[in-house]
Amino acid sequence: MTHRVRVEALAELVTLPPGEARHLRVLRLRPGDLVRVFNRQGRQAEATVERVHDFGALLRLGAEVNATPETPTPVTLAVALLKGDKLADVVRASTELGVARVQLLTTRHADVPDIGAQKLERLRRVAAEASKQSRRAVVPEVLAPIPLKELQAVGEGAGGQGFVAHVGSSARLTELLDWSGSVTLVSGPEGGFSDEEVALLTSRGYHAVTLGRRVLRAETAPLALLGAIAATGV
Ligand code: SAH
Repeated sequence: MTHRVRVEALAELVTLPPGEARHLRVLRLRPGDLVRVFNRQGRQAEATVERVHDFGALLRLGAEVNATPETPTPVTLAVALLKGDKLADVVRASTELGVARVQLLTTRHADVPDIGAQKLERLRRVAAEASKQSRRAVVPEVLAPIPLKELQAVGEGAGGQGFVAHVGSSARLTELLDWSGSVTLVSGPEGGFSDEEVALLTSRGYHAVTLGRRVLRAETAPLALLGAIAATGV
């Protein structure tokens, strides 16, 4: 896999600060090697290493990469089980909004305790149809439910970023999102997450974020999360 290097802006020649240059040396990258650069807005380009030294590195940028309509890194939606047909609606719209994977969750204030194999198959068909309709090349995976406590850690060491939508939070997803790695969005059941659940997720590196000052329905919140990302233009 091509190494991804974060830059401030996409220009023809980019000078990397010492920290990022050290990263290139650790990866044993040399002049002539190809890397992929990305900025906070999720724009990406091919680049060739021109020089690497102790106090910086120089990259020459090539073509911007946006061949397929996929987000710069995969976005996973981890969503609590919901009643009736609501999950199908969430999977359909999430697929249109660019999700790479939907991980179903069981949570403390669950609306539904579990989901049958048939219903899961139906959700997968919904994802396949929606993917085709939005002219995507990939079909998002829909994964059988796991308990919220089994959601993996994110951030430092673990890599990637995670965001949990929580009523009353004030942090903003679009200000924190930097595409440094894969993105996991977590959205709760109608009864909301318990304080312990939110504390567990934040201890695992997830940022608790707001979706505005109104309380959204459990089937609306995932779309507000993904819509915020889609509206950045990625
Ligand atoms: N019963 C809860 C609300 C649950 S809303 C309460 O009264 O607090 C269902 C889920 O949608 C929540 O778990 C959260 O993940 C998300 N959500 C709804 N509105 C939100 C908002 N304004 N900001 C952040 N998350 C929100």
